[in-house]
Amino acid sequence: MIELRGADRALFASDVHLDERDPLTADAFFEALARESAGATHVFLLGDLFEAWVGDDDPGAIGRRALDSLAALTAAGRRVFLMRGNRDFLLDVPLAGAAGASVAPFSARAGATMLADPTRVLLFGRPALLAHGDALCTDDADYQAFRAQSRSPAWQQAFLSQPLAARVEAARALRARSEAEKAAKAQYLMDVNAAEVERAMREAGASLLIHGHTHRPAHHRMRLDGASAERWVLPDWEARAGRGGMLIATARGLQAIGAWE
Ligand code: MN
Repeated sequence: MIELRGADRALFASDVHLDERDPLTADAFFEALARESAGATHVFLLGDLFEAWVGDDDPGAIGRRALDSLAALTAAGRRVFLMRGNRDFLLDVPLAGAAGASVAPFSARAGATMLADPTRVLLFGRPALLAHGDALCTDDADYQAFRAQSRSPAWQQAFLSQPLAARVEAARALRARSEAEKAAKAQYLMDVNAAEVERAMREAGASLLIHGHTHRPAHHRMRLDGASAERWVLPDWEARAGRGGMLIATARGLQAIGAWE
């Protein structure tokens, strides 16, 4: 299990949604990452680092920039952990067979470690649960059905075995569908389900949950089985709207930096 202790300092961020069409957000994030990671030992990127991901064989210009940035961090001794989100759920998923064997996985190229969603860690003696957050939105049955399908090895292999142009087009169609559905969905469907949050935390024995995805940055204090617990929701990044921030964990506690509102 990943354990932070002593003088460790961890950064948490998610939902950067890196996209070649939004260089301002990329600049803001990579600058913040370089600045804040200077004193950090661990960096946790909890999903949707990328707006879309069509396979490790084609990271694109923005993917290469992220690779360079993360590789520089890991070369400098920081431990970098990556979780997949609902946009970049194909990150680090290899194509089966010889075609897959010829492509170095994203995590290996970055020197990073992939995390399962959710992952339990020990933060300065305290059991904590890290998640992207989409799996906690159980009120949205349609999305959960798509999530189950798109996380299946058969679906992923069928997707990844298409030519690059077809994958790019399919990703665009998925994104357009997601945006259209989001516009029509009731607000509560796009937030976490309180009972599912409690269930996940109880199962992990965690009194602290850190996740992103909902774009509703907040620090929620709650009661869980008679004890105090807390849930931090990481902000998404969009430079033009002034959004973006990180959470820093040290032995002294948790601190939000950047724009949380
Ligand atoms: Mn997400």
